[in-house]
Amino acid sequence: MTGQHATSQDTQTQESQAVQSDSPERELYLDAAASDAVPASVIEAMTPFLTEGYGNPSSVHASGKTAARALDAARASFATDLGAHAGDVIFTSGGTEADNLAVKGIALAQIRRERETRAAAASASTPTRASTPIPASASQHSPAHRILISAVEHPAVAQSAQWLHDFFDFEVVRIPVDAQAHIDLDALSREARRGATLACIMMANNEVGTIEPVSRAVRICHDAAVPVHVDAVQAAGTIPVDFRGLDADTLAVSGHKFGAPKGLGALLTRSRVAIEPIVSGGGQERGLRSGTPNVAGAIALAVALHEACAGIEERDAHLAASRDALIKAICEAVPGATLTGDPVNRLPGHASFTFPNVNGEALLVDLDARGIEVSSGSACAIGRHEAPGTLLAMGLSETEAKSALRFSFREPLHHTDIRRIAQALRASMTALHAM
Ligand code: PLP
Repeated sequence: MTGQHATSQDTQTQESQAVQSDSPERELYLDAAASDAVPASVIEAMTPFLTEGYGNPSSVHASGKTAARALDAARASFATDLGAHAGDVIFTSGGTEADNLAVKGIALAQIRRERETRAAAASASTPTRASTPIPASASQHSPAHRILISAVEHPAVAQSAQWLHDFFDFEVVRIPVDAQAHIDLDALSREARRGATLACIMMANNEVGTIEPVSRAVRICHDAAVPVHVDAVQAAGTIPVDFRGLDADTLAVSGHKFGAPKGLGALLTRSRVAIEPIVSGGGQERGLRSGTPNVAGAIALAVALHEACAGIEERDAHLAASRDALIKAICEAVPGATLTGDPVNRLPGHASFTFPNVNGEALLVDLDARGIEVSSGSACAIGRHEAPGTLLAMGLSETEAKSALRFSFREPLHHTDIRRIAQALRASMTALHAM
C-alpha cells in the first residue's frame, strides 16, 4: 500500500517536473490568503494517525489511549505556538465554525444567564407576583443584547451576528473603519461604554491585509467590561499571535491558511467567558464542540503551525520585501493602480489594489489565462459578483471596489516572478482596453 502510494507520487512528481520544464510559463499561485498547499512534512506527520493510530481518543483501550496521547500532544504544541494554554484550545472544522462558536456561543450563554435569573426571580417571588407575566427576553436592545463588530469582519463573524439579530433580536453595531481599514477606536470606545455582550475585531483583514490595532481594541473593550473575540484566521501562522498576551477572550484560527488541510481550525477560549456549544453531542472538547476529535487533523494543525511559526520574523521580513517590490512593479506597470489597505502595517505576503477602467473579475480571468492565479478579494464573495465589503466600508465606490485584485503568497517571490506578474497585468489591462 505504502509502496504503491510512493510510486504514484513519484510518477506525479516526474510528470509535474516535465510540465514545468516544458512550459516556462508555469502557473504562479498568488492566492495563499484563500488556501495553500499542505507540505509533505505535515502529511507525513498526520498519516500514521489515519493508518495505524486510528483509535477513537475517547476509547479506553490501548489504541484509544495512543490516539488520546497524540491529541494531547498536538493540543499542547498548537497552544504554545499561539501563546495559549492547552486547555484554551477547542478544535473545530475551521475558521468559520470557530467564529460561529465564539459569536453565537457567547450570546447564547448570555441568554441562558437571563433565563436562569428570571427563573430564580420567579421561584423567589410570592404566588401573586409569580402570576405576573415574565418578559420573554431582556429589553430588545438592552446593553446585554448588543454585539459590536468592525465593519470589515469576515462573513463568518458578520453573518453569525446577523443570525443573532434574526433569531434573538440582538442589535448588531458596526464600528466604522478609516480609508485604510483600521477600526475607529473612538467609535469602538463610545459603543463599548454603552454596553455589549461581545465585540468582534479581526487581527488582519483578508481583503486588504491591514493589521488591526487589536491590543488597543481589547483594552478599550475590557475597560468597558465587554469581552472580545478576535478573528485571527489571516494572522495565525503568518504573523506572531500571542493569545494570552493579547488578553482576548476568544480567538479563531484556520489551518488551511498556514499549511494544514482544509476543514481544520480552532477557537482559543479563556475560561472567564461563558460559551454555549452550538454543536451538541458527546461532550468532547470541554463540552464546547461535540464530535469524535479529528486526531490526524489536530496533528496536521500542530505541525503546520509549528513549521509556519519557526523563524516567522525573519521569513516575514523577506516576504515583506518581496511584497513591496511587487507593489512597486505593479504601480509602475499599470498607471492608476492603487494599493488598498495600510501600506506598511499590513500582512507581509499580501498586496491588494484597485485598477482603473476595469472589472476585477474580468482582469482575474484574463490573468488566469496567462498563468497568474489571484483573487478579486474575499473567496466567499466570488461567484456572487459582489463588491468586496471591506473596500465599501473603507469608502470606495462600488465600481472601484469591483475593480479590486488581491495577490497573496507565503513564500518570497523571485524577482523574475515579480516582473512576469507586472508584465501580465499590463498585457491583461491592454487586452481589456483598460489602458
Ligand atoms: N475569517 C477570515 C478573516 C477569513 O479570511 C476566513 C477565510 O478566508 C475565515 C474567517 C473562514 O475560515 P475557514 O475558511 O477556515 O472557514
